[in-house]
Amino acid sequence: SNYLLQQYEKMNLVSEFAASVAHEIKNPLTILKGFIQLIEISKQNKAYTQYENLIFSEIDRIHLMVNEFLTLAKPSEEDMKLTDLHEALQQSIRLLNAHATAHHVTIHLEKVPPIPLIQAIENKMKQAFINIIKNAIEAMQGGGNLHITIRKWNGNITIQFADEGCGMTEEELRKVTTPFFTTKTDGTGLGMMITNNIIKSHDGEMEVESRVGEGTKVSLIIPVSGQ
Ligand code: ADP
Ligand code: MG
Repeated sequence: SNYLLQQYEKMNLVSEFAASVAHEIKNPLTILKGFIQLIEISKQNKAYTQYENLIFSEIDRIHLMVNEFLTLAKPSEEDMKLTDLHEALQQSIRLLNAHATAHHVTIHLEKVPPIPLIQAIENKMKQAFINIIKNAIEAMQGGGNLHITIRKWNGNITIQFADEGCGMTEEELRKVTTPFFTTKTDGTGLGMMITNNIIKSHDGEMEVESRVGEGTKVSLIIPVSGQ
């Protein structure tokens, strides 16, 4: 399951980065194309134009590939389906059970019914849950409890992850979703940024409260309808 976990994290990084990398490549491509068009206007020599046409068609080809790449990377409406978030939570916890046991962490899942199904990208939601649970386990170096509660509240589904870990200082808390911010020697500092993006792409919100030496509470507020 550790291998599965690593694969999950890799998928996570690849899909999120694919979208931003594809975007970044499109800008210089567009600028290049514009400059070559300027050169073409200023030079009317026939010998140049055949090379220029080759350059244009290659730029267009890269553009097309980037567009396809972008479609692959970004969550599309088609990936959205009616999802049982409680079931997704259970599956995420199952994946992390060995990791939790090794860290002497007990995970408690409480469901306050009824929990309606919502339109969501199930795999993305699981990635978000896994990132949060993994952080909680890693924060409880001496072991402890992770309490997860899922309930419907005011047209939203709220999921709370409350750990008894090391907690964060105010400065750490401010930076928690900043890319590459990590306090771990083997951390990537990308998990919380990705999680935040996933929740936002479902029109939801992530809130984090924390106290040094007491623990951390991550709350996800996801609207039931309106997507
Ligand atoms: P990583 O886990 O690779 O360090 P994350 O983006 O998942 O990256 O988390 C960034 C940082 O936020 C962590 O290094 C840690 O300092 C802090 N953090 C996140 N979740 C928790 C938590 N539950 N308890 C304490 N600190 C946390
Ligand atoms: Mg993490």
